[in-house]
Amino acid sequence: MNVVIDVKPYYQGKSIAYCNRSLNTIPGGYHSNFRKKESGPPIYFVRGKKGRLWDMDGNEYLDLYAKSGAMFLGHSNPQYKKIFFQPETFMAADYVSHSVKAAETVLKHFDGFDMIRFCLSGNEAVQNVLRLARAYTGKNKFIRFQGHFHGTADNVLGGITKDSCSYTPVSDEENDIFYTKGRAEGILQNQSFLLPWNDICVLKKVVEKYKNEIAAVIMEPINLNGGGIMPRKDYLQQVREICSKNHILLIFDEVITGIRMGLGGAQKELGIRPDIIILGKALGGGYLPVSAFIAPHKIMDEYKTYRVVHGGTFNAYPLSMLAITAVYDILEHDEKNTFHKLQKKSTELHKIFIELSKKVGLPLVIQGPATCSSYHVSEKELTSYEEMDQKIKTKNAVLKNCLQKYGILTAYTSRIYTNITLSDCDIDFFEKRAYAALKDTEIILERLKRGKDF
Ligand code: PLP
Repeated sequence: MNVVIDVKPYYQGKSIAYCNRSLNTIPGGYHSNFRKKESGPPIYFVRGKKGRLWDMDGNEYLDLYAKSGAMFLGHSNPQYKKIFFQPETFMAADYVSHSVKAAETVLKHFDGFDMIRFCLSGNEAVQNVLRLARAYTGKNKFIRFQGHFHGTADNVLGGITKDSCSYTPVSDEENDIFYTKGRAEGILQNQSFLLPWNDICVLKKVVEKYKNEIAAVIMEPINLNGGGIMPRKDYLQQVREICSKNHILLIFDEVITGIRMGLGGAQKELGIRPDIIILGKALGGGYLPVSAFIAPHKIMDEYKTYRVVHGGTFNAYPLSMLAITAVYDILEHDEKNTFHKLQKKSTELHKIFIELSKKVGLPLVIQGPATCSSYHVSEKELTSYEEMDQKIKTKNAVLKNCLQKYGILTAYTSRIYTNITLSDCDIDFFEKRAYAALKDTEIILERLKRGKDF
């Protein structure tokens, strides 16, 4: 089965011309810096069906990138597409907003959460939630964690804590992968503590000292952006108790996990109820920008006073509301079976990936939830973000680029996002090409090893 397929290099005639044209009007040819960082020049896709994409030059790809995890239904899902065929229902924007139905649809999956607000992106939802937590608790700071990603706003993007076991202020340093010029001065230090995740002692210490200043603890309940790290046994339960005891709101950023792990998100799977949950990405089916945050009305009542602002011209715009309802309709139909099947198929793909890597002699682990997993060129599973050092990041990036060369797209920081259309045929496609990609990776890494820095 391990046939080396002669795949045309993905970057060819039409794509090169288009890329050159884009550089005249779009800085770097990208609208998001992260896209450029790992994967080299952009690939321009012109068509998608189920799990596959085709670029301008006719190359076919297996899409395990899935628009950074947002695409969960497969490309061109016929049931989802129907929302675009009823323009009269969404062109009358403010008359028929469809938001009540969308709200009810989402909330019925989250026990104890009875209120929702819609926005356009994860970034926006995070910032509104932090404001809401400040308003509700009357406190100003928040705790966040190393390796957890909550968007690109000044107050949550990167930062470094020198002594990760104490509560030294967060510093803004150029060697941080999320360093950005132009950040408002002092914002990281003034607004948050940046702690190691999965370490309850550090959290206890910081809360003990600063409980009167801390409004919220925000985290990904499973640290996907930090490498697919699972919470340690009892960690989330202990965080929950610390927050409750100290009038601190616990915020789960479920922008990725909120749908991918099941319609009740990771909080349901893990059995821990936060105070506020943030949803995004797959919420709108992967093609329309929409996000949301949900909480019990005792917190959301802050908005009733009109003293806390949450606004936006396109909040709850009708097409995105229809999209949410369509997404849940599709996934609710035979929900158990849909998720079970996808998890099973995803695990099959992981197994093949591991078997092929063994044949090539390249160490590889796959970890995290089946539908949003992370792979690492490493002998053993990572148990913390801190273990994902520069060497592993470089090896992962080489493998990612080699996979891409052979038509397999994976997401940044070595993630595999599967979608509900994942089929035997896709797995076959993967199996045929991944071997060649792994072989190339092995050769490149050997060469790097012989160089002085690796
Ligand atoms: N939160 C998490 C956990 C994310 O992974 C992301 C994006 O990747 C965001 C927030 C930001 O979402 P958006 O890109 O929609 O602004």
